[in-house]
Parts: sequence; C-alpha cells; structure tokens
Amino acid sequence: MNLPDAAPGRVLLAEPSTLVSTVVSRVLGGAGHRVAMAADAAEVLAVLRDGGADMLITAWEIPGVADAGELCRTIRADAALTATPVIVLTAHGDTSGLVAALHAGADDHVAKPFVPEELVARVAAAMRIVRLERERSAVMEELRAREAAHREMAHEQASLRRVAATVASARTPEEVFSLVAREVAGLLGCEGGGVARFDGDAAVLVGAHSAEEGFESWVGMPLDLAEHWVTADVLRTGAPARLDDYGDGATEHARRSSVAAPIRVGGRLWGTVGAVSTRPEGLPDGTESRLGRFAELVSLAIANAQTRHEIAEMALRDPLTGLHNRRAFEEQLGRRVAHALRHDAPLAMVILDIDHFKSVNDTHGHQVGDMVLIEVAHRLARVSREEEPIARLGGEEFVWLLPGADAAEAVLAAERARAAVGGEPFPEVGTVTISAGVTDLSCGKDATGLYRLADLALYGAKADGRNRVEAWTAERATS
Ligand code: GH3
Ligand code: MG
Ligand code: MG
Repeated sequence: MNLPDAAPGRVLLAEPSTLVSTVVSRVLGGAGHRVAMAADAAEVLAVLRDGGADMLITAWEIPGVADAGELCRTIRADAALTATPVIVLTAHGDTSGLVAALHAGADDHVAKPFVPEELVARVAAAMRIVRLERERSAVMEELRAREAAHREMAHEQASLRRVAATVASARTPEEVFSLVAREVAGLLGCEGGGVARFDGDAAVLVGAHSAEEGFESWVGMPLDLAEHWVTADVLRTGAPARLDDYGDGATEHARRSSVAAPIRVGGRLWGTVGAVSTRPEGLPDGTESRLGRFAELVSLAIANAQTRHEIAEMALRDPLTGLHNRRAFEEQLGRRVAHALRHDAPLAMVILDIDHFKSVNDTHGHQVGDMVLIEVAHRLARVSREEEPIARLGGEEFVWLLPGADAAEAVLAAERARAAVGGEPFPEVGTVTISAGVTDLSCGKDATGLYRLADLALYGAKADGRNRVEAWTAERATS
C-alpha cells in the first residue's frame, strides 16, 4: 500500500516535566515538526479549537483535569476536535494507564523513557491520519456542495415547470409576470419579487409578489430608477446586478438587499426580473448568477406568453383597418344584448356601408380602395365612444353598437358618422359617402333580430338614394 508521506506538522505538547518536554521538542523538531507547548488542559483545548495544532502529545497527568483520559474524552466529544490524533506519554510498565488512555479515546501511546525513532515513527503515523482526514473532509465538503447545487437546480427546474405550465395554459402575460415574480422570490428565499418591463429609458412594474400586502398594487406603475438602483444598472449594462445592505434606517427594514437580472426577448433587452430581501444576513454569494440563469429561461416563457397574447389579439382584429372583426364584435354583441335585456336597458345597432365602393376600386385600383377603407374606419372610430363596439363586418361594411341608446339616438350618432365620412374629401378619390341602417332592441329583440332589421333599414337607405341614414323602428315595422 502506498501511504501518503507524513508531512511535517504542528504538534501540541502538554508535558509538565521540563526535562521530558525539552527532549520531545528536540526530537520532533529534528524530524521537521513544529512543536508548541501547552501548560494545562484549558490551554490544550484553546489551541486545538483555534486550529493551532494538528495533533496532541500529552502526559498522563496534566494540570486542569483528573488525567489525560478526561482530556481525551472532551476532545472526542467535540465535533470540531474529534478527529485530532492524540498520543499519550505513559510511564514505562504502566499498563493500566495505557488501557485507560486508549479507552478514553487516545490513538496511541509512547512509554517513557522513549526511543526517539519510535516517537518520530508514531508522530509520522498520526500525521498521515491528519492528512487522510483532511482529504476526507474536503471530499465530504465537495459532496455537500454538489448536493446543495443539485437541490438548487431541482428547485429552479420546478419553478420553471410551473412558469412553463402557466404559459402553456394560455394565461395572459400579466398572469405569467405575476407568477414569475412569486417564483423568483421563492427561489432566492426573498420576501419580494418583481418583473419590470423597459420602455425606452423608463421601466414599468408588470409583475409583483410580496410577503407584505399591497406590493401587487404597484403593478402598472413606473419604477423610479433613481430609487431602483439594480433595475437602472441592468438597463445600463445588460448584466445582472446586486446591491447589498442598504436601507433608510427609518423603516423597520434597516437593511435591504436587492438583485436583478436582464430578460431578453427576441435578442433585445426587454426588462428585468428581480428580488428584494430584508433579512439581516442579506443575499448569499452567487445569487446574481443564479438569478441570471433563471432570467434566461424565464425570457423564453415571457416571449411565448407575449407571442401567444399577440396572436390571440390578432385573431380579434381586422388586419387592414385595425378595427375589431366580426368574431370579436359578436362576442361583445352577445354580452351586451344579454345585459340590456336583463336590465331592460336600450341598445341600438347601426350597420354602415360605403356607397358605390366598387367604382372606387374600378376607377382608382384596389390599393386606393384599401386606403379608403382604412380612412373610413379611422373616421368611424373617431365619432364612436370608447364603450361603443365598432367593427368591420367584412368588405366595405361596418357595424356599430350603442349601449344605452335607442334607435332615435342612434340615428343622430349615425348622422355624425355620415358627416365625418362625407364631409371631407379623401385623397385621390374625392368625396366618399356612406349609408346607414339603424335599429334597436325594442324592435330587434335579440342579436339576430338586430342584424336583420339594421340590414333592412340599410337596404332602404340604399334604395332611397344612398348617403343617408334610415331606421327600422316599431312604427316602421307596423306601418
Ligand atoms: P353600394 O352602394 O350598393 O354598396 O355599392 P357598392 O359598390 O359599394 O357595393 P358592392 O357590394 O357592389 O361592392 C362592394 C365592393 O367592395 C366589391 C369589392 O371588390 C369591394 N371590396 C370588398 N372588400 C374589399 C377590400 O378589402 N379592399 C378593397 N379595395 N375592396 C374591397
Ligand atoms: Mg357598398
Ligand atoms: Mg356592401
């Protein structure tokens, strides 16, 4: 077997006899060891606890303890000292002392008067044990560190799985941001977590989580970058940032630490994910690189959530005019009709159609026709109110819903629209006019009825010469 070399070490010697201690010192010093003296048991323990020696050589009788056996038991019972090799110097022929020493936890003994070579050999053996023990604890340390890293990684992965599941379940980006904020706080063991989105030189809080109540209410608010130093730093450098142990001292949190890492979407700096800790011990080493890793993966989730949201939003918009499409309109129509019927509230519908639009296309080309459609949509949106859904039904036909209005009021609104379109010429084309058909829920009764009667009224307006508004009302129905 290839034993490791017994490197010179630091020997602590507790030997009341000056004669013996001088000899031992000289012998071990000659073998390359450094020897320090301890006057009593208390000093032995103090030096060992201080890490001032690799091993102990002690006489059987030393001041401060009944005997070296008691000292050995104290050393073995102390987790920090238990691996220290102990050699007891016994009197020649003192077998009971030797047995007692070994029972108490001594590793070895040397009988006085000793042969110098034997002492050197026994100390060398003890030093080999010291070295093996050091190697063993380094390996253990490494294993523990790896285990901790694995635990951290498992924690991170579980977090990411939850984020991915939220994204996959087609939640809104806001829900994803709020979950990311909660996960990052949990992952880093912090009280608060947040997601901020950059908008030029500014940042807006888009997701927040906190053990303290009320933090969530800051979502949607701009962050003061003079105050949110780490967020400002990420915006400036594009790299993770941390700030330790700050605080105003005026609040209960005299100490605060915060950390933030960049979120990139489509290769561009999108925002930050960060956390705040008020724990007195602050954030552990390496927190910012851990957060940086998490942020990279979260970026993908956020990009997905955003794309999904944009696609869902796109499916509800008419790509040419940007108005809602028929599908989006009908969702709202169903809700508004049900609400109006339940509350016995008025509701009117207007269908608008561009007059002789075919000839616009025929004369100026399809592209100019498209420009006219866009401009008409723009003017209609301008005369309608926020709470009044307006959409492109298809072709050159638009629909407008007026909650709270009856047919008479809707006629006035439609006249405003007719004036907005017909009152000002269009580039290249000149004057464009529209016709409109109006009805309300008192005649139409339901969504299908509204469509049918508004369409009939529109047909009437076309038949009566176009560029006009006509209503399908109860009187008209009975006349
Ligand atoms: P009326 O006054 O009776 O409504 O006559 P009109 O010409 O407006 O109606 P018609 O239904 O005969 O023609 C509608 C035209 O709208 C025909 C079609 O080519 C055109 N159109 C439909 N959708 C689009 C579009 O997206 N872009 C363009 N440029 N034209 C469109
Ligand atoms: Mg038309
Ligand atoms: Mg038409």
